[in-house]
Amino acid sequence: MTTTAKDLDLDDQLSCGEISTTLRISRSETTASVDGGLIAEAHLECDRCLESINREIHGKFKIVVTESPSMASGATSDPDIIVFPEGTDELDISSLLRDAIVLERPMKEVCDETCRGLCAGCGMNLNHSDCECEDEEFDERWAPLKKIKLAELEN
Ligand SMILES: [Zn+2]
Ligand SMILES: [Zn+2]
Repeated sequence: MTTTAKDLDLDDQLSCGEISTTLRISRSETTASVDGGLIAEAHLECDRCLESINREIHGKFKIVVTESPSMASGATSDPDIIVFPEGTDELDISSLLRDAIVLERPMKEVCDETCRGLCAGCGMNLNHSDCECEDEEFDERWAPLKKIKLAELEN
């Protein structure tokens, strides 16, 4: 089963391509346990250099679906038990998928552990080439120290 980020209303949270889902269902008389797994190809941005990168997100969820409301009534606070809507044979699991993806979404991702990021001075991607800023950065870093020394001398 495949679905898209648009189907899940995920666009504002995360941009990703197709999401493939696997469901393993084991039935008993009145309930069905559903073990779901999903793989989504997420389009992210490197936290350092802002280059776009793709990462696979693996999510999973587990629910129990029951046709008998009495079974769920004792456990309505358990969000993992879902009462199957009467008169239908379809269950919308898009919110489950969405939650599973959002849960696994990486907050910070870098294209590579050795990514050198963008130059704070000129914005150049330092993975591609060196920029000319290095000397200036060096000067700026020492500027406060110079000031302190001057102040000390004046006293
Ligand atoms: Zn990067
Ligand atoms: Zn630079």
